[in-house]
Amino acid sequence: MTTDNVWENTGKREREQSRAWIELNMEHLKQNIESFQRLIPCGCKMMPAVKAEAYGHGAVLIARNLQNAGVTDFCVASVEEGVELRKAGISGKILVLSYTPRGAVYKLSDYNLIQTVVDKEYANMLMETGVKLRVHIGIDTGMHRLGIWWEDTEDILEIWQKENLTICGVFSHLCVADSKRKEDRQFTRRQKERFDQVIEILHKAGKKDFVVHLQSSYGILNYRECNYDYVRPGIAMYGVLSKKGDWVDTPVSLKPVLSLKSRIECIRNLKAGEGAGYGLDFTAQRDSRLAVLSIGYADGIPRNLSEKGFVLCHGKEAKIVGRICMDQMLIDVTDIKEASPNDEVVLIGKSNNIQIYAEQFAEWADTITNEVLSRLGGRLERVVV
Ligand SMILES: *Cc1c(COP(=O)(O)O)cnc(C)c1O
Repeated sequence: MTTDNVWENTGKREREQSRAWIELNMEHLKQNIESFQRLIPCGCKMMPAVKAEAYGHGAVLIARNLQNAGVTDFCVASVEEGVELRKAGISGKILVLSYTPRGAVYKLSDYNLIQTVVDKEYANMLMETGVKLRVHIGIDTGMHRLGIWWEDTEDILEIWQKENLTICGVFSHLCVADSKRKEDRQFTRRQKERFDQVIEILHKAGKKDFVVHLQSSYGILNYRECNYDYVRPGIAMYGVLSKKGDWVDTPVSLKPVLSLKSRIECIRNLKAGEGAGYGLDFTAQRDSRLAVLSIGYADGIPRNLSEKGFVLCHGKEAKIVGRICMDQMLIDVTDIKEASPNDEVVLIGKSNNIQIYAEQFAEWADTITNEVLSRLGGRLERVVV
């Protein structure tokens, strides 16, 4: 996404020019941040995840708004995402959560980004570059994704010997914090204990001046006994749970920041028995009116939404029919007489008193909201409303 397709105003005129777009409610973002602030311990700071274009919302827009709300530090997935934020004037700490290839390490230093040490070999590679870097050490407490295994304390301590690396943080990641199952609760507590042990060993070895963090969204919502320097909220900060009905051990009101909208391009009249779309997957059971929407899988609409779910048109439910195309999709508006070309439709969000939640949309697509939102394409305009 370029900043050319971001409109930071109420955007009526711009919206009228757009075939498919995302509307962002920054008031909701602010309220979610305030809700989190009430949940986390006093003195603990937020380092929100704005990776993957802030889960499709638009990284620069979200980071700027968070910065205005007093949140200054961020995590991203890649060095390029960090560079984009810096170029947009984001000035706080930026942690790159995953691997930066050797050839791009100089950018970490040029743009003052903090790199995660993803394992021992990676630390050696960073040392060999000779570039002066600030790092957070990832600790693997059981997820077996990134980080140095928690028991390998010699390897962890050894990072302090690497002269070009300044260790300013140590963190881990929870992998079943969203689950209420007893075994998963135990596993999460074990991850926390392992993490605490590592931190204690480091302190005993005289290592200090580093921050410590563990929880992402579900860790914050379900393990409030944790008390570290930072939390790393992602999906929940955008006002969305990963899945409908997920277990959340704390009363918190999350307000969706994103709405997804498109337009009717044209209307097709079908006689009963006629088919529509690729493969003629849809067959009209009665004389029907279909509306063609100017949004498709290239915009991030999951193709397996074909024949599932509905969109909102004039505040009424219109079923998704036929196969989702690259740039279009079909809905049935036989019972929505007023539907006509250029009308707005809502794919995620509210129309009149009906709301399609991202959780519902993701369930239709047989996935989680994190995936659906983060795949919303660069072709969509972002409009702050
Ligand atoms: C993506 C990510 C987060 C944010 O996760 P959510 O579940 O969206 O809150 C936090 N920490 C790490 C290491 C991540 O990769």
